[in-house]
Amino acid sequence: MPQGQHIAIIGAGMAGITCARTLLQAGHHVSVFEKSRGVGGRMATRNTPFGSFDHGAQYFTVRDQRFEAALNTSPATCKRWSANAVRVLDALGQVAEASLPAPQAHWVPVPGMRSLVEQWAGPLAAAPSQADAALTLQTTVARIERDALNAQRWQLRTTGADDSRHVYSGFDSVLLAMPNVQAHSLLQTSKLLPAFARQISKVQVAPCWTLMLAFPNANQPTMSHLGPQWNAARSTHHRIAWLARESSKPGRKLIERWTVQASAAWSQEHLEDDADRVQAKLLRAFAEVTGIRAEPSHAEVHRWRYAKTLQPLGKSHLWDRKSGIGVAGDWCLGHRVEDAFVSGLELALAVA
Ligand code: FAD
Repeated sequence: MPQGQHIAIIGAGMAGITCARTLLQAGHHVSVFEKSRGVGGRMATRNTPFGSFDHGAQYFTVRDQRFEAALNTSPATCKRWSANAVRVLDALGQVAEASLPAPQAHWVPVPGMRSLVEQWAGPLAAAPSQADAALTLQTTVARIERDALNAQRWQLRTTGADDSRHVYSGFDSVLLAMPNVQAHSLLQTSKLLPAFARQISKVQVAPCWTLMLAFPNANQPTMSHLGPQWNAARSTHHRIAWLARESSKPGRKLIERWTVQASAAWSQEHLEDDADRVQAKLLRAFAEVTGIRAEPSHAEVHRWRYAKTLQPLGKSHLWDRKSGIGVAGDWCLGHRVEDAFVSGLELALAVA
């Protein structure tokens, strides 16, 4: 594609921002639209008075050399998390499998999971003019349609957080970098590429209820032995799949904090339950697995509707050169941060 094309990217998670920065480097004009208040998507950080929680992705691993090269451009942002030897626990919190060192190092951005995407999104905000690059937050793209002034191009109808409506026009290409269900719905609403929608509808993704807990009193000398000696574990408890001590990650506050992820099956079964009920049940399961029965000073839950890909698309992206519409996201390849990176990168390389 000749340089200087106007490209809209919908979604500012790892896939969208990787795609955006690659296209920017290739000399295109890039506008990113994101419905949330900040970038990062499921590489998320929740700040509380007791410290932060990585309530989406917990860490990432690196196998692809292109991901490694990209991370080398931000050497200070990612640190190795030494919770490498992750245990597998039975329902009562006993070690069911000996902890083996993980084959790949576990990396975490500092100070929080979203910091890496935030840093990579920097050039979008720092571009000399809005015509070169733009990042528009709190803006949901509701529909993609042909540009009213130029039928060769595209325009986006958006809704802001305050329900304000806008139309952004003049795009040669529109790239969707969002969870499969949302991409499918946007293509259908826009009556675009039914063949893409059909392929996307075969992808399956499981939800995840996530519990965040803080125990500031645990740092007092009398309670310094609160909880288990390990920092991260997979669990076979029917409610819980993963637990990690947030305070053990590099660059975080030392106040004792835990993030607990419910199992895919339990999350699916309780998807529409009341948040307070879910919190109470996960808290009980947390006590059974860790032995920590103290009352947390801070507890909250977050529901991820699209957390873990069960059945991926099987190719890194979808791109229709004729119309200029493309789709990326972790679910194209798998369920990891690195899959989102590779998907966004390969879509950008196909477009560029
Ligand atoms: P997302 O991060 O979901 O980004 C999509 C963005 O699009 C979002 O910001 C969304 O707000 C935006 N958006 C959607 N629709 C619209 C619209 N219409 N208009 C505007 N914006 C829109 N991966 C690992 O490697 N290791 C882990 O330990 C790990 N644990 C996880 C635990 C949980 C609970 C979850 C939820 C995920 C976990 N993952 C993990 C997966 C990892 O977070 C994802 O693979 C990766 O972050 C996906 O990036 P993405 O850019 O494809 O999608």
